[in-house]
Amino acid sequence: MTFTTWGRTFTAEPAQQATPRDEAALRALVARAASDGLRVRAVGAGHSFTDAAVTDGLLLSLDHLRGLESVQRLPSGSARVTVGAGTRLHELNRTLASHGLAMRNLGDIDRQSVAGAISTGTHGTGARLGGLATQVRGVRLVLADGSVRTVTDDDPPGSPERVLFEVARLGLGTVGVLAAVTLEVVPAYLLRSTETVRPWREVVDGYDALVDRHERVDAYWFPGTDRMLTWCNDPLDRDEAVAHAERQEGLPGALRRLGAGARTVLDEEVLANGVLGAAMHVAAATPRWVPRINRMSAAALGDRTYVAPSDQVLVTRRRVRFAEMEYAVPRDALREVLTDLAAWLRTSGEPVPFPVEVRCAAADDVWLSTARDRDTAYVAVHQYHRMPRERYFAAAEEIFVAAGGRPHWGKLHTRTADDLAEHYPLDDVASVRAVVDPGGTFRNAYTDRVLGTP
Ligand SMILES: Cc1cc2nc3c(=O)[nH]c(=O)nc-3n(C[C@H](O)[C@H](O)[C@H](O)COP(=O)(O)OP(=O)(O)OC[C@H]3O[C@@H](n4cnc5c(N)ncnc54)[C@H](O)[C@@H]3O)c2cc1C
Repeated sequence: MTFTTWGRTFTAEPAQQATPRDEAALRALVARAASDGLRVRAVGAGHSFTDAAVTDGLLLSLDHLRGLESVQRLPSGSARVTVGAGTRLHELNRTLASHGLAMRNLGDIDRQSVAGAISTGTHGTGARLGGLATQVRGVRLVLADGSVRTVTDDDPPGSPERVLFEVARLGLGTVGVLAAVTLEVVPAYLLRSTETVRPWREVVDGYDALVDRHERVDAYWFPGTDRMLTWCNDPLDRDEAVAHAERQEGLPGALRRLGAGARTVLDEEVLANGVLGAAMHVAAATPRWVPRINRMSAAALGDRTYVAPSDQVLVTRRRVRFAEMEYAVPRDALREVLTDLAAWLRTSGEPVPFPVEVRCAAADDVWLSTARDRDTAYVAVHQYHRMPRERYFAAAEEIFVAAGGRPHWGKLHTRTADDLAEHYPLDDVASVRAVVDPGGTFRNAYTDRVLGTP
């Protein structure tokens, strides 16, 4: 069967595909493939735009390794939960909610598997928050010989276990197949979400103040317009949460459900579905209408505030397919990057009916994290999957690279290991891989390109 990525960016014909029933079957499959000299890739939801999950060998789906294994409560109120690596984020969110828990941060969709999301450095937004891999406390991993190793961030720094943990929690599946992941999660919380349309210049010049003021800021900009939608999310404190619950109690059930499930204009029409879908068809057929479409899309945005559980606020639905490139740039380079991108879009006249998205993250210490050692802004460019993207993405990438940008491992880019060596400890990563996977079972063309061959 043909494997195709969600964004229709890559297809592949693996020699074999399997969905092991349990961990024992997974171990047997991996060991046999390795001894037959077959390469192995695990796939999650296929939501990477890169060929990260592509193989001509054995493609393994972990769809049967899903669900909650254990919950360990911590004195702080947080908890460590261990889940099957194939668990989808939307399943995880539901399970956590039933235990009064939630993920500390999320990206903007929930279709990915836990293993797939952490393996490419999936992130959300928040100047003091890290990506999903920073929430990983341990993993259970099937190595190329079929053996199982559990490694955690409690393993002593520098030990073989700890360095294996580093590459296992964010390493494109190059050290083995993740069977289970332990995440640190927090007590369930409500977010107050405020969507505000602001002048482009105000957001670009005032970005630092904005992200200091709000725990999480996401900004969307339709190319060719001079407005941005900022989407600011802040947790309710205890008193506010109690008051909110009391207000909800007072509402008739139908209204309460409507409020909780209400999607915003941003989500429902502009990013996800109806209006955007229709607009994309028009844009693909008549690119010269794109500026008008973008002005209409931007005009559809309005100011709005609402309160809902964190996962319902953070996760949007994306049913219109697109291709994406996203780079992590130093936070202090953001202004210049956006200014250069705006200038290119203006002078090139390139038809781009999809918004540019801007997010941020705190510096972290995960070896292959795009936010490693520096406060980061993320700038993502998108293009409708039926429209040409090459010129736009090439121009954007030139701007991102000039600013010292690092590409998202799961989104389109052209960088190689030689380019990336200045950003990551690739020699250390190669050493770990050489020890646990000497036969190169978990390599593919993409890992060869971006990490090199150990
Ligand atoms: C609509 C859309 C929205 C997105 N939004 C965001 C966002 O908000 N933030 C963000 O950072 N990214 C985002 N992404 C990118 C996405 O989160 C990543 O590409 C993520 O890796 C996809 O998860 P997946 O389960 O589909 O993994 P796949 O794409 O299937 O696999 C990704 C990598 O993980 C490896 N892998 C999968 N399972 C295992 C396993 N069990 N053991 C070892 N390795 C494994 C694969 O081999 C591959 O290298 C988005 C993508 C799409 C299509």
